Amino acid sequence: IKRIGVLTSGGDSPGMNAAIRGVVRTGLSEGLEVYGIYDGYLGLFQNRMILLNHCSVSDIINRGGTFLGSSRFPDFRKYTIREKVVRNIKKRNLDALVIIGGDGSYIGAKKLSDMGCPCIGLPGTIDNDVSGTDYTIGYFTALETIIEAIDRLRDTSSSHQRVSIVEVMGRYCGDLTIAAAIAGGCEFVVVPELKFEVQDLVNKVKFDIAKGKKHAIVAITEHICNVFDLAKYIEKKTGKETRATVLGYIQRGGKPVAYDRILGSRMGVYSVELLLQGCSGCCIGIQNEKLVYNDISSIIQQCVHRPFRQDFFRTAKRLF
Ligand code: ADP
Repeated sequence: IKRIGVLTSGGDSPGMNAAIRGVVRTGLSEGLEVYGIYDGYLGLFQNRMILLNHCSVSDIINRGGTFLGSSRFPDFRKYTIREKVVRNIKKRNLDALVIIGGDGSYIGAKKLSDMGCPCIGLPGTIDNDVSGTDYTIGYFTALETIIEAIDRLRDTSSSHQRVSIVEVMGRYCGDLTIAAAIAGGCEFVVVPELKFEVQDLVNKVKFDIAKGKKHAIVAITEHICNVFDLAKYIEKKTGKETRATVLGYIQRGGKPVAYDRILGSRMGVYSVELLLQGCSGCCIGIQNEKLVYNDISSIIQQCVHRPFRQDFFRTAKRLF
């Protein structure tokens, strides 16, 4: 291997820059040429890339997002599109690619590997929804942002004696919501992995009021229901003023916390080491604080049935 490329794909996450930096600095120290590909698979298709040097990745460790840009490029699912991408990769003499993204990006990486372009995947997403790793790059930063928002909501919720419903990102994974509920001191949590009975929430609010509680915070993952309608319903059924807040994209941005910088750096370094050992079609994870790698195929299959962290949820419920 003489020349590699690195790209970020799918939703951006804080710590992706640290991962790119890890790839670049390790690649250079091994005598490789490292190309930064703009805007994920779209940039690969459009042949937009730049040769990176040591200084190209200076001053980015502390920055959220990804300086290479990211995108969703649904056409990458088409074989003919990927054929053109493979031709671009060959023309540029790229021997291998590091793909930083979520499980969708992993599928793309696996398909490229199967077409003769060795790829290695790094889990870059705030959602923590990738199998084969305890944590994804960006998760802990997003969690900090959410907790800060919940702390603020608590102030106003307490002053006005309201119920606050706060919608958290996570797609189909409740990790961010449960962790936010524990650290933010929420009274109720709704996650996509478990059936939501609205009557349980009504009962809980009524029970808390009877106990003398003056306000409540409810954490709910996105895509479960319309939280504004839910707020109206809870207010109607409990007589308690209820407001909904959708945190939205602010959860994606911001300076990465130390853990995400370190995780991104470790995974970035490790990815180049693995490529040099001939690894292809695999992805990196952290399990019990140790870096590991797995075949992407096995991870993608598990994604459908990614185990729900039941113990985590039990802890949250104990504290309600
Ligand atoms: P994430 O990587 O964060 O899960 P997406 O699911 O949007 O985000 O995937 C990012 C990109 O990965 C897509 O825009 C597409 O270019 C590529 N991708 C996703 N699924 C596939 C697939 N089945 N085949 C090929 N490429 C895919």
